[in-house]
Amino acid sequence: MSVGKQILTAPVRLLRRKSDFAQYSSDSIRNGLLGMVGRTPLVRINKLSDETGCEILAKAEFCNGGGSVKDRAAYFLVKDAEEKGLLKPGGTVVEGTAGNTGIGLAHMCLAKGYRCVIFMPNNQSKEKIECLQTLGAEVYPCPVKPWTDPDNYNHQAARYAQSLENAVWTNQFDNTANKRAHIETTGPEIWQETNGKVNAVVFGTGTGGTLAGVGTYLKDKNKNVQVFLADPQGSVLYNYIKNGKLERTPGDSITEGIGQGRVTQNLKDAPIDDALAIKDVDAVEWTFRLLHEEGFFVGASTGLNIAAAKQVAELMGPGHTIVTCLCDTGQRYYGKLYSRKVLQDRGLLDAVPEPYRRSLHD
Ligand code: PMP
Repeated sequence: MSVGKQILTAPVRLLRRKSDFAQYSSDSIRNGLLGMVGRTPLVRINKLSDETGCEILAKAEFCNGGGSVKDRAAYFLVKDAEEKGLLKPGGTVVEGTAGNTGIGLAHMCLAKGYRCVIFMPNNQSKEKIECLQTLGAEVYPCPVKPWTDPDNYNHQAARYAQSLENAVWTNQFDNTANKRAHIETTGPEIWQETNGKVNAVVFGTGTGGTLAGVGTYLKDKNKNVQVFLADPQGSVLYNYIKNGKLERTPGDSITEGIGQGRVTQNLKDAPIDDALAIKDVDAVEWTFRLLHEEGFFVGASTGLNIAAAKQVAELMGPGHTIVTCLCDTGQRYYGKLYSRKVLQDRGLLDAVPEPYRRSLHD
């Protein structure tokens, strides 16, 4: 193509881009922050793939504009509120979140001119709270209460939104716009990037949006794709899938953003074949192995995803392609997951392979 033609065609291509969710465009230019949601790289986890004889692939979700897997849900939740007329210019987005959905929403709000108010449990990492505040969100840390308690952070978010004009509680747990984000983006991306050669997917679950959305899309393409739920300590979903009982597994977990005490609307009717209970020792070991053996600096929900992908590889045997995701970066948990003292206090120091403990700070 001549230089002159390139110059002539460029503005036309920009004008033609109707949607800022640029995933179906072949253009390499992304349309602002909103265009940086989705189309994340699908990465081969090299050493683990070689070790297991499976292709272990992961969507690098920390490459989204807001830095986590929750940016996809945040984009769809805001769009859903706008389309339903619940959010008009100058309005307020209110959400209950472990942090990442809030960070995604705060980015969307800055890009679109909304106010953002976040209610989150007060046991989440300080880095996520600081990030939210830097992004201009109003943050209300709440005492940790179960869903059944009226003071649970989600109910506080709902009440606050109701008390304001032109405000919406985006309700990531039960608003299925969240799952739709993954039916319309993550699922199709995985299908296209693997040329349909995907045998299994496995994800830790918070709202259930990622697992249910990806699982729904892929099962629709090929019913033989196996869908595994990976559950951290202290969550009910492992027992729910195994025997229909909402009983927690023992312990609580150092992972953040995953584990659940109930079946959310996003998870309801998800096509799940089996569940794996992943202990913190395994999630932590794989967080540090990913760092030192593969070069990825991630949070513990990602360590859990990779520990689970290894178990799926062992269950299925060599020759299969297993897809998961790298949810967010380790920077968001530096003071906690990468602290020698925190790991020691939780009895998790021995989970970090000895040579990798040099990454810990005091
Ligand atoms: N990992 C992290 C770090 C998260 O914040 C979340 C969402 N809370 C998840 C995984 C799980 O995603 P989902 O809500 O789609 O189940």
